[in-house]
Amino acid sequence: MNKNLLILLIEDELAISNFISTILTHNNYNVMKADTGRDALTLTSSHCPDLVLLDLGLPDMDGIDVLKKIRGWSSVPIIIVSARGHEREKVEALDLGADDYITKPFGTSELLARIRTAVRHNIKIRDDNLPELDKVIIGTLIIDYEKRVVKVDDKEVHLTPIEYKIIVLLSQNVGKVLTHDYLVKEIWGPYVNENQTLRVNMANIRRKIEVNPAEPKYILTEVGVGYRMVDEII
Ligand code: CA
Repeated sequence: MNKNLLILLIEDELAISNFISTILTHNNYNVMKADTGRDALTLTSSHCPDLVLLDLGLPDMDGIDVLKKIRGWSSVPIIIVSARGHEREKVEALDLGADDYITKPFGTSELLARIRTAVRHNIKIRDDNLPELDKVIIGTLIIDYEKRVVKVDDKEVHLTPIEYKIIVLLSQNVGKVLTHDYLVKEIWGPYVNENQTLRVNMANIRRKIEVNPAEPKYILTEVGVGYRMVDEII
């Protein structure tokens, strides 16, 4: 299924690079490796990969600069591979146009799921012939854009207009992390700092749609970064 997809793996640590490329090859992706930012930029422009996995700590360049340069001319999906505890870097990378991030150490299935989601998003964005979705269904959660109705277990959920806007925005980006700043700007505009209000609204949404708001299934918290609506209930 993945036979024709080419992934550019930008990683300077040989052990990690070998580990990731083995997983990808086993799953029928073609893999191209770069261990410096400079090689990464050359290979991106010469081979047009279908997806880029980008380590932020590279020997010759900051990974963030590699990201900015690639985004200067390409919309290829980019997943950041980053060390634990670098929340500020993750947020910066997402705000600069990275599609997602994955934190080391990570599991095989998590990596593959992130790749599938990012590739799917990109196909959706590129293909103008695909009809606009009129609803999103995840498990028993239904967000019906046409009727402006949200249902869980076939029961209508009563949301405030702001809560509805937040859930629509997340559902239009399923599988993808939206940063706090991005959500606040999209919902309240660029001139306010509503991070606290966002948290309150999110707590209210969870109380209304989750069976156990303390262990949410639909909208996950990415600590220090933002929120992600899941693609599917596992
Ligand atoms: Ca590194």
